[in-house]
Amino acid sequence: MLTEKSALVTGSTSGIGLGIARALARSGANVMLNGFGDPVAIETLRHELAAEKGVKVFYHGADVSRPAAVAALVAAAEAAFGAVDILVNNAGIQHVAPVDSFPEERWTAIQDVVLNSAFHGIKAALPGMKRRNWGRIVNLVSVHGLVASSFKSAYVAAKHGQIGLTKTVALEVAETGITCNAICPGYVRTPLVEGQIDSQAQMHKLPRERVVREVMLAAQPTRRFIEVEEVAALAVFLCGESARSITGAAIPIDGGWSAR
Ligand code: NAD
Repeated sequence: MLTEKSALVTGSTSGIGLGIARALARSGANVMLNGFGDPVAIETLRHELAAEKGVKVFYHGADVSRPAAVAALVAAAEAAFGAVDILVNNAGIQHVAPVDSFPEERWTAIQDVVLNSAFHGIKAALPGMKRRNWGRIVNLVSVHGLVASSFKSAYVAAKHGQIGLTKTVALEVAETGITCNAICPGYVRTPLVEGQIDSQAQMHKLPRERVVREVMLAAQPTRRFIEVEEVAALAVFLCGESARSITGAAIPIDGGWSAR
């Protein structure tokens, strides 16, 4: 249980981040939500999560591509809860294009949201964790932090960078009660991915089941999507006491993708 711990999860209004925020709240942690979305839906979500275990749940709409906004987000969570014990760097975006025609603005945006925001979040949250001699940093990376795929240069570069950052931070704080790890999922069934099934099915003129198996999950040996709850359970485990000796690790949860 994570009672009396407080967590900040970036990009937690949707998909994996939301799943992790929900699982942390169910484990008894207070949660600061972050991300974009409809204000009414976010407010409903905030109440729903708070009702899980009577934990405190707040929301801050920082755009994590901006360093000052990340610092303000960490400061707001510390002010709301008195601490950020758990930092989950999850916000992410994607753009797919050949490297020689990759839009420069998209390259920069992906580095800012995926890699630079993790650095700024860790820099801001670490002093408090050091003072309390306890902390958990979980970077939501990807199998693309370990292996590449064509047309995803910015994403693959940023995700590989996140793993380098994870290892360095883990070494720097190894003698404290703080750990820093990377979770590396393959294809996870999020609302975003669900939406892609229909468009890919249309594009390839294949039924949904075939496009999932033969196109989308061609690189994922299990040929099934990973569920958000599986990734969230791994994140919660990494935040617990049993995982105190796991640090600097890049843990695949990828249906065997990176085993090839
Ligand atoms: P998603 O699009 O469902 O959620 C992304 C979240 O990030 C949203 O809450 C969005 O509002 C937020 N966000 C985006 N830009 C932001 C910004 N500038 N500031 C603040 N918040 C911002 O995506 P997801 O599939 O849940 O992905 C979450 C993380 O997991 C990402 O880092 C992604 O790279 C990684 N990942 C996803 C998959 C997958 O198959 N879905 C696989 C491996 C890794």
